[in-house]
Amino acid sequence: MAAAQNAKFRVLAADKLDEEGLEYIRSQPDAELINKPGITEEELAKIAGDADGMIVRSAVQVTAKVLANPGRLKVVARAGVGVDNIDLEAATDKGILVMNSADASTISTAEHAFALLISLARQIGPAYKTMSEGGWDRSKFMGRQLSGKTLGVVGFGRIGRTVAERALAFGMNVVAYDPVFNQPTALDGKVRVFQQFKDILPHADMLTFHVPLTDQTRGMLGAETFPLCKKGVMVVNASRGGVVDEDSLIAAIDAGQCGGAALDVYTTEPPAKDSPLRKHPKILLTPHLGASTKEAQKAVAVAAAEQLMTFLRGQGIVGAVNAGGLRIDLTPLQNAFVDLAQRMTKLLAPMITQGIGSVTIELSGKELAAASGTIERYALVGLLGSSLDVPVNVINVAHVARQRGVQLRTVLTDGQEDQAGTPELTIEVASPDGKEKRRIVGHIYDDMRPRVEEINGYRMDMIPAGAMVLILNEDRPGMIGLVGTEFGQAQVNIADMTISRRESKAMMVLKVDQEPAEALLNRLTHRPGILKVAVIRLPAEKLSAR
Ligand code: NAD
Repeated sequence: MAAAQNAKFRVLAADKLDEEGLEYIRSQPDAELINKPGITEEELAKIAGDADGMIVRSAVQVTAKVLANPGRLKVVARAGVGVDNIDLEAATDKGILVMNSADASTISTAEHAFALLISLARQIGPAYKTMSEGGWDRSKFMGRQLSGKTLGVVGFGRIGRTVAERALAFGMNVVAYDPVFNQPTALDGKVRVFQQFKDILPHADMLTFHVPLTDQTRGMLGAETFPLCKKGVMVVNASRGGVVDEDSLIAAIDAGQCGGAALDVYTTEPPAKDSPLRKHPKILLTPHLGASTKEAQKAVAVAAAEQLMTFLRGQGIVGAVNAGGLRIDLTPLQNAFVDLAQRMTKLLAPMITQGIGSVTIELSGKELAAASGTIERYALVGLLGSSLDVPVNVINVAHVARQRGVQLRTVLTDGQEDQAGTPELTIEVASPDGKEKRRIVGHIYDDMRPRVEEINGYRMDMIPAGAMVLILNEDRPGMIGLVGTEFGQAQVNIADMTISRRESKAMMVLKVDQEPAEALLNRLTHRPGILKVAVIRLPAEKLSAR
C-alpha cells in the first residue's frame, strides 16, 4: 500500500491528540497531518473520506454516518483501549481496519491498581479526609502491611501480570486465576495459577481484578463468592465496573466479611451523586483514572500513530480490533464452512466450564484445505471471543490464543472425505488439565445447509440456527413430557426437537420460536432429572448456493 509517487498518506487527527503523537506523524516523510481536534460528527463525515487514516481518542464519534462514504479511508486508530466511540460494524462493513493501542496504558493502569491497594491497606483516603477537616487521629487508622500477605490476581493478562510483578517486589505472595492461562505457575514459578475462581478465594488476603466485563465476569465477586473469601479480604477493582457486584460489596463490608475496597470503575459511570459507594468509609474511590497519566497518554498516541503508518505502508497489522481489511476470496462451500464453524463454536462455548487449554480443528474435504486458516480463525473467535479483553478478531485471534498458552492444532485429512463423501468439520476443545473435553462435528451436504451431527458423543441431525436450547438430562421415562409441559405452560413453542442418548444420559436440542424467559430456564434447571440447560442464540440460516 505504498503512497503513490510524491503523494503522501493523509492522516487525520480527529481528536485532541498528545503532541508527541502529532510530532511523530509530522516527522514521517511519507505522511501529511491534518489536525482537527474537536471536530463535530457532521464535519467529520464530510472530510473523513479524504484521509487514508484517522487517529481518534474517546471524544469524537466515528459513526456509521461518518463512515458512510469512506473514500480513501482505510484505517481508524484509537489512541487508547476502548473503541465504544467507533461503530465497528460499520467500519468492518466498509472494509476499514480499526486498531487500538491497548498495550501502551498497561503500566499506568497497573500502577494505579497498586496505588489503590497500598492506599486501602494504609487507610490513606480516610486519614487524609480527617486531616483535611482539621482532625488528628493516629489510633483510628491502623493499617495492614503488604509484605507477607497473599494477593489474588484475577485475570492474568497484561495488567494482571504487571500488578503481580509489583506485588512480588513488595514481598507479597501472589496467586492468580485466569481460565485462559494454561500453566500451573507463572513469573518463574513465583505465582501459582488456579483454574477455578472459587479455588483462589480462600488463599487471598487481598484480591485485585483485571478481567474484561463479560457474562462470566459480571458479578464474579458477589453474594455467592464473598463467603468463600478469607474474612476481612480487601478488594481492588480497576478493570471494569460490575465485575465486583456493588450491592454485595457493601453488604460484605458491613458484615465484616470484606475489610474494605478500592474502586476505579463502576457499573454506571459516573456513579449517582447519592450512590452509597461514595459515602462508605471503607470504600476508596477514584474516577476511572487507570490510564490517566501523561506517560500513558503519550504512549498511546505515539503507538497509535506508529501502528497506523505501519499498516498504511503495508508492513503489517498491530492491534487490530475488527476484521476490516480482511479480503479472502472464498468459494461458496468454503464460506458455508466459515459460517458453520461460527455456529458450532457458539453451541460449544457454553459447555466449556474449565477453561481452554487446547483447540483441535479437523477438516476433511479437498476444497476446504485452502480455507483452513480462515475457518480456524473464525472458530477461535467463537471460542475465545467472550473470555478475553483484547477485542479478538480473525486477524489477531491465533496470535492472542498462543500468547495465552492455548495449544492450537489444525488437522487436514489430506483430501479424504468422510464415509458419506461430504466435507466435515470437527472442533475439539480440552481444558488446560485435559480433564474436560468438548467435541462437535458438522457437515455441509449438497443442499448447502449447516448441519451439526454430534455434540460430545451425542449423535444428532440439527440445523444450528435461531434460538436453541440444549438440555442434558437423565435418560429415563417422562423427561420429554416434562420439558414439553414446561415450555407449553410458558407459551414457548418448540419448533423442532432432536434427542440423543448415551450411557445413562440424554441430550435434547430444541429449536424454539422465541427465546425462553429466565424464569422458565430456572424452573427447568431445578426439575429432577435435568442436569444442564443452556440457551444459544444463533443467526438465522443463511441461504447460499454452491
Ligand atoms: P487482557 O486481555 O490482557 O487481560 C484480561 C485477562 O482476563 C485475560 O488473560 C483473560 O484470559 C482473563 N479473563 C477473561 N475472562 C476471565 C474470567 N472469567 N476470569 C478470570 N480471568 C478472565 O486485558 P488487560 O489489558 O490486562 O486489561 C484488563 C482490564 O483492565 C480490562 O477490563 C480493561 O478494560 C481494564 N482497563 C482499565 C483501565 C482503567 O482505566 N481502569 C485502563 C486499561 C484497562
